[in-house]
Amino acid sequence: DAVSGDSIRHKFLTFYASRGHKVLPSSSLVPDDPTVLLTIAGMLQFKPIFLGKVPREVPCATTAQKCIRTNDVENVGRTTRHQTFFEMLGNFSFGDYFKKEAIKWAWELSTIEFGLPADRLWVSVYKDDDEAFAIWSDEVGIPVMRIKKLGDEDNFWTSGVTGPCGPCSEIYYDFHPERGYEDADLGDDTRFIEFYNLVFMQYNKKDDGSLEPLKQKNIDTGLGLERLARILQKVPNNYETDLIYPIIKKASELANVSYVVADDQTKMNLKIIGDHMRAVVYLISDGVVPSNIGRGYVVRRLIRRVVRTGRLLGIKGDGLGNPEGAFLPAIAEKVVELSSLIDPDVKNRAPRIFEELKREELRFVQTLERGEKLLEEKLADALSSAEKNQTVPCLSGEDVFLLYDTFGYPVEITKEVAEERGVSFDINGFDTEMEKQRRQSQAAHNTVKLAMGNGADIAENVSDTEFIGYDSLYAKAVVES
Ligand code: ATP
Ligand code: MG
Ligand code: MG
Ligand code: MG
Repeated sequence: DAVSGDSIRHKFLTFYASRGHKVLPSSSLVPDDPTVLLTIAGMLQFKPIFLGKVPREVPCATTAQKCIRTNDVENVGRTTRHQTFFEMLGNFSFGDYFKKEAIKWAWELSTIEFGLPADRLWVSVYKDDDEAFAIWSDEVGIPVMRIKKLGDEDNFWTSGVTGPCGPCSEIYYDFHPERGYEDADLGDDTRFIEFYNLVFMQYNKKDDGSLEPLKQKNIDTGLGLERLARILQKVPNNYETDLIYPIIKKASELANVSYVVADDQTKMNLKIIGDHMRAVVYLISDGVVPSNIGRGYVVRRLIRRVVRTGRLLGIKGDGLGNPEGAFLPAIAEKVVELSSLIDPDVKNRAPRIFEELKREELRFVQTLERGEKLLEEKLADALSSAEKNQTVPCLSGEDVFLLYDTFGYPVEITKEVAEERGVSFDINGFDTEMEKQRRQSQAAHNTVKLAMGNGADIAENVSDTEFIGYDSLYAKAVVES
């Protein structure tokens, strides 16, 4: 299949290999770099070369890099284009070629190799980068109406608080050219999708925020494999590509629902499972085990979200009739089946991965069940005191928060169960408690942003910091269980 995810990956690597790039393997999701928690981009394994700390072994390279971005966790299933786990295809120049070649090859790859219609492609450049603008307009021949100048947030790429960085230029695909040029906004994701980012890496950002020119000018690029697959396979979102959909399908079978006819909420839940299961399998494969700190907490949080989501979908036990069983291993099997060209090590490590998932799932289910018991008690209290006082039965915000925070008990489930019994709950009181806790954890300086985005969410040495920030409920639930 010419547009399968596997063939897109292969085409990309072959294209750059035939232009002098050495094909190198993906590095681990656990970076050898204290400034980032997880591998967020293809350039990380080359950072020492970009910084001139180690000599280059080859002038240029190409990779398909496994990435995790926890800063996108809330986007999963909500936008059509973000996962926490994705593959970034990249071509890199270590002081070899620069802007002109990078732009021309990216264009040739997109339009000729992948056959994207030129008039569907828009590009962005950094606002001050007249050189890139001129290459796109004069040499590639893109009409200036389809070249947008963007600012620091979108078009100046940094890998972390410090480190190599530079202006970038992105290629977008237009799903709705009939909407015309006027007021076209590349940030409008009902119309555009960014799929390829070319970073002209020529500075090192220092501790004080200043930019020091690097000795050599480098190229660092990233093309989202699932995004290009989604465009070429003509499916409405990344999750429905052949890279993720089989996992969703497996989850839907265990839940006894059909993705195709499901409502939006059910679809979103299945997408969350499809994404998070990939993330946890590759993370565990790279040696991250569930825990309450750093990377381990990322895995734990993702696993728990899958378990809760699976229960919301109606998966019981292992989903195959054993109420005491775990369902994550069966879905993980699908992830492993799809893994051979993403990471050949995953298959060998599968038994350990399944074991780890099962243990963590069953442990969390126990916590949830303790929450269920407590909820029953609180509901009984609410009903009897309402009867005594002739009032409407209501769960207090404190109780809902206690369930959520200490027992990791999902608010959606609390609400559903309460409603079934004719008990309402104090959502404002709950929000107040949440807010109180958020302030407390901030005050304690314990909030750690888990991943680095475009220079925004940065934390240093996070690996040895206990994470009790957003979603802190689950960290606490475990500490106390
Ligand atoms: P967006 O603006 O859509 O969030 P980005 O600008 O943060 O993307 P880059 O840091 O430029 O992304 O990463 C390079 C490429 O990696 C993107 O052009 C995109 O194709 C892909 N990519 C980035 N984040 C994700 C994600 N969360 N899921 C899937 N692909 C992604
Ligand atoms: Mg962007
Ligand atoms: Mg980008
Ligand atoms: Mg982003």
